[in-house]
Amino acid sequence: MKIAIITGITGQDGAYLAKLLLEKKYKIVGITRDMSKIKTFNLDYLNITKDVTFDCCDLTNVLEIIGMLKKYQPQEIYNLAAQSSVKESFKDPLTTLNFNILSVASLLESIKIFDKTIKFYQASSSEMFGNIKRLPITEAFAFNPASPYGISKASAHWIAINYRSSFNLFVTSGILFNHESFLRGEDFIIKKIIKKSLEIKNGRVDKLIVGDIDIRRDFGYAPKYVEAMYLMMQHSEPEDYIIASGKSISIREIIYYVFDKFNISKNKIVVNKNLFRPNEIKNIYGDPRKAKEKLYWEYDMSFFNVLDLLIEEEIKNYD
Ligand code: NAP
Repeated sequence: MKIAIITGITGQDGAYLAKLLLEKKYKIVGITRDMSKIKTFNLDYLNITKDVTFDCCDLTNVLEIIGMLKKYQPQEIYNLAAQSSVKESFKDPLTTLNFNILSVASLLESIKIFDKTIKFYQASSSEMFGNIKRLPITEAFAFNPASPYGISKASAHWIAINYRSSFNLFVTSGILFNHESFLRGEDFIIKKIIKKSLEIKNGRVDKLIVGDIDIRRDFGYAPKYVEAMYLMMQHSEPEDYIIASGKSISIREIIYYVFDKFNISKNKIVVNKNLFRPNEIKNIYGDPRKAKEKLYWEYDMSFFNVLDLLIEEEIKNYD
């Protein structure tokens, strides 16, 4: 039986990835920062909490990480733990930079010291590219991050590449564009639009208050994106892959689509300029051809189909 450690197990991707690896008969060790405060909502929702072994580890502490590697002897580590919000990274850049960079360096240093055969997946992000004029983005593009989050992920990405090339470790990075699901944190825009629309429909709130709705992003479906993580780790060579839908869509189009579904008037949209981000990325979309050709990763969902699924799930779970 293969043993995989998943850091960030309680997050959206951690939960879907754990479900996928359990289906593939892995033993899963889920790492959390604090056992007494572990948030099992996502794992409970997927009905897999009982199938995961939980442990606590400070991912910036090499001694603690080596202790964890000794205890579980994993073949694979999926590193998903991060302060993952761009908005939060502007509020608290130091925590974001400190954890998102140091954790990756500490994990890789520990693997180098303890067992160089352990495979490592790094959760990289499209936010590393920032504002880029030429689209779609491929793996060959230079980084130009526009937020502390993007900078932290770009630094972590280069650390991952450095351990792969300098020490011959199996380190693969998935450069994922935005991906959504029912389990997405409440602060993220797609979840917020769907949840608030449902509340407007049910008379619980009056307005949807949003920032810049003319920005465009490449959105996909999280349960399909975690499949790419698994495929990257099974490939014979560790490389970097863009995981994206290949198209961008504006926040305005998404709100209009959801509002039409719920039959809500567009005058319920309030644009608040205080919510505009400094240095906002206007438009971004990726080219997933490498992942499709080399990993046989299959993805052909339109984001409107994803929205239909998310709306249905939100209605089912609304109380
Ligand atoms: P998420 O739902 O925000 O989950 C983040 C996970 O990281 C949670 O389990 C959280 O644990 C953990 N974490 C945060 N800060 C930590 C700290 N200081 N110490 C230990 N653990 C910490 O994120 P996600 O959407 O699943 O994304 C997974 C990874 O992919 C992240 O690295 C994210 O940056 C990256 N990514 C996501 C997207 C996307 O669209 N979702 C796109 C590109 C890249 P707690 O439960 O304790 O808070």
